[in-house]
Amino acid sequence: MTHIYILALGSNMRVPGMGAPRAVLSAAVRELEREGLRVLAVAPAIDSAAIGPSFRRYANSAVMVESELGPPGLLGLLQTIERRFGRTRAQRRGQRWRARALDLDIVLWSGGALVCRDLRIPHREMRKRDFVLGPAAEIARGWRDPETGFTLGQLHARLKRARWK
Ligand code: ATP
Ligand code: CA
Ligand code: CA
Repeated sequence: MTHIYILALGSNMRVPGMGAPRAVLSAAVRELEREGLRVLAVAPAIDSAAIGPSFRRYANSAVMVESELGPPGLLGLLQTIERRFGRTRAQRRGQRWRARALDLDIVLWSGGALVCRDLRIPHREMRKRDFVLGPAAEIARGWRDPETGFTLGQLHARLKRARWK
């Protein structure tokens, strides 16, 4: 049995040997493939303003992948890849919004909703984040959020409308 996931990718640091954030995201997609995930779709990267104390802009994207790994196994792999890209413990602990080479989050899973230790799917912040919903809706507009019943396209449109009010 395979699982399908939407992952959110983010970077706001240059990585030696890879280059600027957008190049880091492309390298991350290749790394996911090298690790045996089937990459079914890749959203065009977008630039978004930095959140919090970090002053560099983010590059964000989203991918749809297929894998034999269940959610905890996939999260472990994503964290291994983040470390390979130079994300240190200092960037992981207590410095949530600082510069980071690579952030890989699980946004949605074909199995629906899950809470397993500190892993939560859907990602708890996804409905509030334009830089997650924009790219995710590009590749999976009709995928429904199991908690609200809205599609990614609807969630993104709602967020944009809320911004204009
Ligand atoms: P945010 O979660 O707000 O996007 P972040 O990505 O900067 O913040 P991290 O330091 O990368 O936060 O991760 C914090 C913890 O979030 C990790 O230990 C991980 O176990 C947990 N987590 C919970 N749900 C998810 C998910 N759906 N995808 C990835 N990590 C998750
Ligand atoms: Ca994140
Ligand atoms: Ca993360």
